[in-house]
Amino acid sequence: MQKKTDIIIIGGGVIGSSVAFNLLNDGYNGEITVFEKDTIYEFSSTPRSAGGIRQLFTTAINIQISRYSLKKYKSFPEDMAINGERTEIYFKQRGYLFLAKNETMNQLKKQMELQRKYGVPSDLLTKQELLTVIPELTINDLEGGLYCKEDGYLDPYSVMQGYAKKAKQLGATYIYEEVDTILQDDKQGLTGVRLANGDVYHAPIVINSAGPWAPALSDKIYLPLPIVPLKRQIIQFDIAEPLTNELPLTVDPTGVYFRHEGKQLLSGFSEKVKPGIDFAWKRSFFMEQLWPILAHRINNFERAKINGGWAGMYSYNTKDQNAIIGEHPKLKGYYIACGFSGHGMQQAPAVGKGLSELIRTGRYETLDLSPLCFERFSENRLLIEGAIV
Ligand SMILES: Cc1cc2nc3c(=O)[nH]c(=O)nc-3n(C[C@H](O)[C@H](O)[C@H](O)COP(=O)(O)OP(=O)(O)OC[C@H]3O[C@@H](n4cnc5c(N)ncnc54)[C@H](O)[C@@H]3O)c2cc1C
Repeated sequence: MQKKTDIIIIGGGVIGSSVAFNLLNDGYNGEITVFEKDTIYEFSSTPRSAGGIRQLFTTAINIQISRYSLKKYKSFPEDMAINGERTEIYFKQRGYLFLAKNETMNQLKKQMELQRKYGVPSDLLTKQELLTVIPELTINDLEGGLYCKEDGYLDPYSVMQGYAKKAKQLGATYIYEEVDTILQDDKQGLTGVRLANGDVYHAPIVINSAGPWAPALSDKIYLPLPIVPLKRQIIQFDIAEPLTNELPLTVDPTGVYFRHEGKQLLSGFSEKVKPGIDFAWKRSFFMEQLWPILAHRINNFERAKINGGWAGMYSYNTKDQNAIIGEHPKLKGYYIACGFSGHGMQQAPAVGKGLSELIRTGRYETLDLSPLCFERFSENRLLIEGAIV
């Protein structure tokens, strides 16, 4: 079967669905076809994310992206309402907190100054002030922390479904089939995609937002991306003694992070793993890598019971751990939106808006996302972000 459409989006996760929504919401009147291979999003990165939303970044572009996205997530339930029914995303603005030892306090101070330049109300807390946020915290080995009370966490699956449902309402077509390959020929350049079932869809624009599978698709057309899938585990647990306050998403100086999930807690850590798709999670990850640190940081975590866990994939940019956004310089009409590593949830609204502008008008209008272009790798303009989780 051969079909024609105007824009093809490969991957209907939070990024692909945000792009589809933004294009249509901004008045694009062509036909948008989204291909999604996982009918229940079982293995997609989005529903396996920790859902942390923070403006506590160290580069101007990431700070601005998160600031824009935070504004959009605040009004998401109304903006994405369907027939008057709100789209809940359970955004808990309980803050985001990086704990610090003496040697990193100066860096955090510089980060705060940059964040404030862009309007982010971040605060450098002394170790005593940390106790106003988490009274049970062990502070003897800490010097303080960087805190933003506007930040927090949300339900990633609800955000993704909110975008997808609204995009469909505005006219996007979702086809739950796998794209086998992007098609191009010597004369015409990009021509569309072929599905695993053999169907061919023609379009002058193809957006690769296939998350951890994006590099494999690009490899097939000899346009490799510096991205690998990397396993990240999250463990959910109960504690015997509840905490006084609802937690911000808190990052220990070791990199172990934790937050409330209802009455339970969840925690994760970017362990060293070999690249590759792997969804196995292990209780030993909690016992050996998380629990000793958690129990030291908050005494209440000492008596903990694991309730479950999961592993998800980062689409990890091996060069600078930041997203790669924009048209590929070697193939007209081929757009990429991948490599988000651990911060795609908080970038989805801004990236959707940016790609909508770039595709419709040829330039970024709301936020200049060009620092995230693919060309930065060959032009020696890596975007070094100091706050990677
Ligand atoms: C454990 C974990 C914790 C995280 N925590 C945070 C956090 O706290 N904050 C934050 O901002 N980010 C976090 N992230 C990162 C965030 O989840 C991702 O950056 C984001 O979800 C990426 O969205 P995506 O749409 O690019 O990818 P995905 O959600 O993976 O969507 C890509 C889609 O493409 C589909 N697809 C792939 N190949 C094909 C094909 N050939 N044909 C058709 N469909 C295809 C897949 O099925 C998938 O649904 C975390 C990630 C993990 C794994």
